[in-house]
Amino acid sequence: MTRKLFVTTALPYANANFHIGHIMEYTQADIWVRFQRMQGHEVHFVCADDAHGAPIMIAAEKAGKTPQEFVAGIAAGRKTYLDGFHIGFDHWSSTDSPQNHALSQEIYRALRHNELISVKTIEQFFDPAKGMFLPDRFIKGECPKCGAKDQYGDSCEVCGAVYTPTELKNPFSVLTGATPVMKSSEHYFFKLSDERCVNFLQEWTQTPGRLQSEVLNKIREWFTKDEEGNGGLGDWDISRDAPYFGIEIPDAPGKYFYVWLDAPIGYLASLKGWFATQGRDFDAYMADESVEQIHFIGKDITYFHTLFWPAMLHFSGRKTPSHVHVHGFLTVNGGEKMSKSRGTGLDPLKYLNLGMNAEWLRYYLAAKLNSRVEDLDFNPEDFVARVNSDLVGKYINIASRAAGFLAKRFAGQLSAEVGVEGRSLLDALQTQAGTIAELFDTREFGKALREIMLLADKVNEYVDQHKPWELAKKEGMDAVLQDVCTTCIEAFRLLTIYLKPVLPALAAKVETFLRVEPLRFADAATLLGAHTIGAYEHLMQRVDIQLLEALFEPPAPPTVVPGGEELAPEIKIDDFSKVDLRIAKIVKAELVEGSDKLLRLTLDAGEGRLRNVFSGIRAAYKPEDLEGKLTVLVANLAPRKMKFGVSEGMVLAASHGDEKVNPGLFVLEPHAGAQPGMRVR
Ligand SMILES: [Zn+2]
Repeated sequence: MTRKLFVTTALPYANANFHIGHIMEYTQADIWVRFQRMQGHEVHFVCADDAHGAPIMIAAEKAGKTPQEFVAGIAAGRKTYLDGFHIGFDHWSSTDSPQNHALSQEIYRALRHNELISVKTIEQFFDPAKGMFLPDRFIKGECPKCGAKDQYGDSCEVCGAVYTPTELKNPFSVLTGATPVMKSSEHYFFKLSDERCVNFLQEWTQTPGRLQSEVLNKIREWFTKDEEGNGGLGDWDISRDAPYFGIEIPDAPGKYFYVWLDAPIGYLASLKGWFATQGRDFDAYMADESVEQIHFIGKDITYFHTLFWPAMLHFSGRKTPSHVHVHGFLTVNGGEKMSKSRGTGLDPLKYLNLGMNAEWLRYYLAAKLNSRVEDLDFNPEDFVARVNSDLVGKYINIASRAAGFLAKRFAGQLSAEVGVEGRSLLDALQTQAGTIAELFDTREFGKALREIMLLADKVNEYVDQHKPWELAKKEGMDAVLQDVCTTCIEAFRLLTIYLKPVLPALAAKVETFLRVEPLRFADAATLLGAHTIGAYEHLMQRVDIQLLEALFEPPAPPTVVPGGEELAPEIKIDDFSKVDLRIAKIVKAELVEGSDKLLRLTLDAGEGRLRNVFSGIRAAYKPEDLEGKLTVLVANLAPRKMKFGVSEGMVLAASHGDEKVNPGLFVLEPHAGAQPGMRVR
């Protein structure tokens, strides 16, 4: 029976390029999808950029772009990776698509209709300078346990303590440096603690075959309440206040869905977008009970996919996932945590740019992957050994050893039948088709490759016993030579069928060389027989260890410059004295209507008149904090006409050359005793 499979991978957050963890997950899913297609099953394989949320909104602002422009820039870079690693999604969308806006609101309305949405007032840190509520990661301060400075609002990197942002000492906003204030706001919640949700999920998660056993164990912990009745499933805060880049909550002005609500709905929206391009009916497909909905995800997002997501789907009247396949993390070099800055990571783009073969990595990852939630490690020596000894040494060499004789001596003609020994070897290869298929289907890719390499060993033993290179030198042995080489090519074709889900580009080259139609799994039941193959062209190089050294070479350390900015060219004292700097008193500071960057300052520089100066420091200062303070004014700067009025000079402020390192702005203030009008020299 033909299976109907709807397959997704987790949506990557669109604030950065792919890292090797993404490539591993997509490779795992892609191998599985390719295998299912080779079985003749119908698969729709989609993904999308996860486009919403505060981090993207803030990153876009820093880059001087709209969030849409920012996300589009990241999305434009995806294709290089996906094509480069032969990852064959049918469709790539964005959670900011019109389909996702509509579906998210539809699902929310259905949940509300089912009385599974509640509203509660909660208190949260608010940045008064920026005018927005601050996510935990945007608040820093001193650790309440060990006193370490510059720690995030959720945990201390020095002592490992976990706390809430309100416990931080001397908290400040990472965005503006301002001291956050507590502010209350209405938030919308999905009532996961509702008895209906709990009962449904108890049953849904326990359905045999749906989830891996390790995942089930984890879920059991999440369900469990302690003796005081704490723990268990809690309601989920699904709203965020404006300003926020996201999807508006229906009938709730100024409220947006928290990014995690609309992210998984993006799976459905991407499929809907894909179907729209195909003229297919999305609703009819999703209503088809035989359709299997399958998600490949990393272990860190299990909670969202095995609790929130199925409950949201079920209580909005939709199909729930058939399987959620969870994988572990990829480490590099013995579990050392991947870190780009330390140069220990494996940068997939660098891998491609070095001209390394993507299928080496696909093969290596497949050899390490299984159906369990286990971390796996990229080890360079192991990588070289597996690619060079197994993939090239055992598999590719079979073709290269036989093809030359067939081309030179027999015009590429295979024997119609092979001898007894050849026949028994090919039988051994063919009978493993079912076992190998089963291993691919259950995501036991490592075991599948071990089986395939055992078969390759048998073929190589056969070659070593029959020594075609010696047969070729003997008189009257033509028929035997053709028979042996035919056996090799038939065996090579069978191994190629088994390896094709992992090595799609190589398999395509082999199909051209063998002059056969695209290979399907069922083709393992037959042999080529009297068939003429094409000319053999080199199929795959061995890995050069130097490439791996280049891959892991740490990036050159950045040149250290003071404050993140190169020094300006040297000047003479005369140049400096052209700038007339004066001490000025800030008599008044006001917000400027229509500008979120400027403050209007009224300054007394001892001239018997006041000056009006616009200064781009609003993000860092509240007007009342500046009034009465002294600062330094560039007093002979030509007046500048601005949208809001004429600016008569400039106030000095310090900032880092790279806002990402330090977004702060610091207005200069003289030591006590300085008087308005004094010259700074
Ligand atoms: Zn600490």
